[in-house]
Amino acid sequence: MSIHLVVGIKAIENAPRKRLISPPVQSRVFEVVGPYRMRERREEISELPERCVLLRVMLTGVCHADLRYVSCSRPPHILRERLPLPVFHEGIARVVDVGDDVRNFRRGDLVVVVPNVPCYVQNPEKYPDIYRACESCRPGGPGENLCRDVKFLSSNAPGLSRTFLIHPASCIFNVPRGIPEEIAVLAEPLTVVKRAIELAGVNYSSRVAILGGGFMGFITAAVLSFIIGISKQNLLVTDIFDFKLEKFEDFAITLNVREKSIPEDILSSFDRAFECAGGKASESTIDQALSLLSPGGTCMLIGVSEEKIPVRTRILLEKGLTLKGTTRSAAIDYPEVLKWLQRKDFTKTLRRIIYPKIFRADSCDSILTACRTAESPETHGKVLIDWRLEIEE
Ligand SMILES: [Zn+2]
Ligand SMILES: [Zn+2]
Repeated sequence: MSIHLVVGIKAIENAPRKRLISPPVQSRVFEVVGPYRMRERREEISELPERCVLLRVMLTGVCHADLRYVSCSRPPHILRERLPLPVFHEGIARVVDVGDDVRNFRRGDLVVVVPNVPCYVQNPEKYPDIYRACESCRPGGPGENLCRDVKFLSSNAPGLSRTFLIHPASCIFNVPRGIPEEIAVLAEPLTVVKRAIELAGVNYSSRVAILGGGFMGFITAAVLSFIIGISKQNLLVTDIFDFKLEKFEDFAITLNVREKSIPEDILSSFDRAFECAGGKASESTIDQALSLLSPGGTCMLIGVSEEKIPVRTRILLEKGLTLKGTTRSAAIDYPEVLKWLQRKDFTKTLRRIIYPKIFRADSCDSILTACRTAESPETHGKVLIDWRLEIEE
């Protein structure tokens, strides 16, 4: 009895304090309700919890992870649990208001949103600090990107397809002056790449193969070339489309694997490989990695596949190769990426992989059009959506 009483008081002490937002803000929320079906509703935001900020969404990127909800290609039990769901997890926003105990941000700041909200941030009553966080988030654990009780935007938490949202202040970073918005919005996928490159143990003298020249393949190759300093002759990119490979030609060797098989002289000659295609294609891209890697090499798996993928384990054994998975990123990955984005040579190259038309989020239809464009096999570039709607009340 007394134990319950103590626990009860503690819970009240730890519950976040909130302050009123006056007048309350009307957020337009666009959420996925079925395959390529969205609805719009209004949500009133009237309270701002401590250590949180009120954000106005500015620009978001469309990612394949979001598209799996838009097209409803995730497993049915997941969809049943999570829909209706506002989507998108790559974005920048303006700080509209700051809650109590928020010191590093002020109204009007342009920030990049960290979609990975770890256990000790989203549920401090259960996980009071990082020492009492889940096993992944604790010091020495595998990392917050693998948090066992995470809230991840556009996955098990509402995403950015809304005009206003409340977000923890520990999960935003100021966009340094001089970084254009359409470049800053690439920060989230770049943090995923940064983490994958660190896990792979790559340095400037490594020989690296990138399998799949889509958006993730492009930004991985760009980081390896411009930030890590890998020379063109040590950086190989494979794909089955020349229009994709053309974008790499000044900083990587390219190989169209639909037209040609892998030349003998480069077999077993790479230290590291990055599988960036995902989906059904990963059966052949992992196969290429096994052929290209030298004994003791590592293939990082970045592309996502919902299905089982057959792998020639015999080659894995014979060469002593490692297949390593990685996903998402954590707040700790952002400051360095934001420094990268201040380098003009790097951002000039990144511009090649931004889809030239920026879509406007004025209706469910326009958002769905942006999603269909992002999904099209002919599209090679990050599709962006602007959330500054013309009719603002
Ligand atoms: Zn993403
Ligand atoms: Zn955790």
